[in-house]
Amino acid sequence: MNPSTNVLICGAGIAGIATAYHLAVSHGIKDIVLVDERAPLSLTSDKSTECYRNWWPGPGDAMVSLMNRSIDIIEELAEESGNIFHLNRRGYLYLTADPEKIPAFEKAAGEPSALGAGPLRVYRSQADASDYTPAPSEGYKNLPTGADLILDSNLIRQYFPYLSENVVAALHARRAGWFSAQQLGMYMLDQARAYGVKLVNARVTGVNVAQGSVQSVQLSDGSTISTPTFVNAAGPFVKEVGEMLGVDIPIFTELHLKVSYRDPLGVVPREAPLLIWTDTQTLPWSEEERQFLAEEKDTRWLLSEMPEGAHTRPEGGADSDIMLLLWEYKHQVGRTLEVHPTSSKPVVPPPLDDMYPEIALRGMAALLPRFEEYFERMPQPMLDGGYYTKTKENRLLACPLPVKGAFLIGALSGYGLMSACGAAELLAAHITESDLPTYAPVFSLERYQDPEYLELLEDWSDEGQL
Ligand SMILES: Cc1cc2nc3c(=O)[nH]c(=O)nc-3n(C[C@H](O)[C@H](O)[C@H](O)COP(=O)(O)OP(=O)(O)OC[C@H]3O[C@@H](n4cnc5c(N)ncnc54)[C@H](O)[C@@H]3O)c2cc1C
Repeated sequence: MNPSTNVLICGAGIAGIATAYHLAVSHGIKDIVLVDERAPLSLTSDKSTECYRNWWPGPGDAMVSLMNRSIDIIEELAEESGNIFHLNRRGYLYLTADPEKIPAFEKAAGEPSALGAGPLRVYRSQADASDYTPAPSEGYKNLPTGADLILDSNLIRQYFPYLSENVVAALHARRAGWFSAQQLGMYMLDQARAYGVKLVNARVTGVNVAQGSVQSVQLSDGSTISTPTFVNAAGPFVKEVGEMLGVDIPIFTELHLKVSYRDPLGVVPREAPLLIWTDTQTLPWSEEERQFLAEEKDTRWLLSEMPEGAHTRPEGGADSDIMLLLWEYKHQVGRTLEVHPTSSKPVVPPPLDDMYPEIALRGMAALLPRFEEYFERMPQPMLDGGYYTKTKENRLLACPLPVKGAFLIGALSGYGLMSACGAAELLAAHITESDLPTYAPVFSLERYQDPEYLELLEDWSDEGQL
């Protein structure tokens, strides 16, 4: 007879681990097996910028509600663990140097606020300054929610003296910051194991389905485990694992890179929030460099207008000098297919782009001019990356599948660390047939059967993703 288990979860990334945690610790389910062919958290979940925010656009309030719930859980875990994973609440600081964008900036800022992310406070002059509470470097308690929109240049410089003098508006989203994803994940995994969850190192190679129900799961070590409940938490491989059940999971994957540098000159202040440039830009090159780049077809694009979205933050405690830089310029300048393949078949390890470190570093000079000090002598870059697994409208899936006993937690895109606790709580409610939160339908596959939702999808423009 095959060994058996109550629940078998395929994937020990943050999604699978958070699901095991909720089932074992919150619902007291016994006999759960978490199967991964790699070390826990090592495929995508350790490649992230580890940031979180409740500041999400619509349509509807589902994203804000799910993120608020997820951050509630993260804060509860921080509280009970003595903040073992260094949760902070420094915020996200969105910046523009374009005065003409201010009305649109102000309008866009109103949306998450109206959807439940907290109040929007606007500062138009020095006289309003006393109301602004700067974010501390550490800690997450008793701090404002919502966002502060600072439209006075002197105030921006007073609070963020290191930013470019060109910045005319700064939006500081406040229920936001970062944490150690590895430590949060390992904390949940340790808790789950203490409640009996077993971790098995193997590849899931097949799922046996009979009469429309999950029966058992085959592993690469040749074993078959009988189970009535199978959770597909395979990250960028959810589509392949879905095929084992005969179910098409409507996702695609998109490669995203990240570079870290040591910052001996202290260009990114240790106390800074996540800094995000929302303007397009042309990269700063010397005249000589421009002439050189213009000569070749392959490099000419580096002289064209580059997209918005360059972002950076300091990494580590006060004694660290690491900074993280991210900028997905390629998807927008038409070079996606060459270096950043968008497909449903991710490659491990992913192909890296040798030009990324220098381009990202030059792009950051738009918001932090002192980056120029590194142009002549670039520090040694550490480049890595992973896949955003996305649905077309960039909303995750945490729901039953159309095979009895099969469930999915996937398409966590570029927001999987911040959303996993909420998404896994939702999935655990589905599995245990507990009461579902109001946002459950928005994160289910059935949404694609809803004519109203399909209509919304037709002119869905802002996916809210960095
Ligand atoms: C550059 C970058 C920056 C990011 N920044 C942020 C951020 O700031 N904040 C944020 O919240 N999110 C961020 N993300 C997104 C976040 O990292 C992901 O959404 C999240 O890690 C996805 O977790 P997962 O558990 O779904 O997938 P994974 O971590 O990939 O886990 C899936 C697991 O399934 C296993 N698996 C797959 N197939 C099988 C099989 N057949 N058998 C056994 N095991 C299998 C894999 O080995 C893997 O361990 C970022 C991502 C990237 C790439």
